[in-house]
Amino acid sequence: MLLTIGAHMSVAKGYAHMGREALEIGANTLQFFARNPRGAKARALDERDLKAFAALFGEGGLRCVVAHAPYTMNACSSDGHLRELAAEMMAGDLKVMEYFPGNFYNFHPGSHVGQGAATAVVQIADVLNKVLYPEMRTMVLLETMAGKGTEIGRSFEELREIMNRVELSEKVGVCMDSCHMWDAGYDIAEDLTGVLKEFDSVIGLEKLKAFHLNDSLNDRGSHKDRHALLGEGKIGMEALLAIVSDPALCELPFILETPTDTAGHAAEMQKLKELLK
Ligand code: FE
Ligand code: FE
Ligand code: ZN
Repeated sequence: MLLTIGAHMSVAKGYAHMGREALEIGANTLQFFARNPRGAKARALDERDLKAFAALFGEGGLRCVVAHAPYTMNACSSDGHLRELAAEMMAGDLKVMEYFPGNFYNFHPGSHVGQGAATAVVQIADVLNKVLYPEMRTMVLLETMAGKGTEIGRSFEELREIMNRVELSEKVGVCMDSCHMWDAGYDIAEDLTGVLKEFDSVIGLEKLKAFHLNDSLNDRGSHKDRHALLGEGKIGMEALLAIVSDPALCELPFILETPTDTAGHAAEMQKLKELLK
């Protein structure tokens, strides 16, 4: 069983450069910000670079990649213009994703701004219904969230509420984040099987497409969202190893979003592989 593992990387020097760097550190997947994470500006489109990147898939060594939407994107803002902007950003990013089809676009469902979760899930689904289209070859993933502030996606039920309202439901999946689920209160350390069973009954394991592998600085249920290096947080290495070896999870792409650089991620992946032997 070959692990699909990589890390969050910078696309600043171009897509192809990023892809080659991932392969160099022994990764066969990666994640990157589709645009400036704290802004909204898209990268200038460089078709040659995108085609060179697309050539790195399959025989090239990359199995799949995950694009991550900017943090500023809020599909459940109380401001209609900002929801419109979220739809525009997502539509633009998804267009770029078609240069390397068959991959994933992950986003934080959003934070409601007082209007409540019940309204927010409808607003998020509205944005998805605006931008998803039948011919697209990218799958959009909702990320499980820590529940910081008024974050939507702190429970499997909230994600289900969004997914229930999406017309092109086959275009939408879920990306689990171990730090976020832990911080949201899910006991993935002592009861991974129970958590996965719950996910399966609420959403369906077939909807699970990617996994952010992070340790957490804080206790379970803290709703903080502070990532820690693998094995140096409250989840612990034993639990993280159980996650990557679980039969229901082991074939997913695992992305490290731990607080270190590419060399650090390379070392973490190496350590993980050693411990799995
Ligand atoms: Fe995220
Ligand atoms: Fe994450
Ligand atoms: Zn996080």
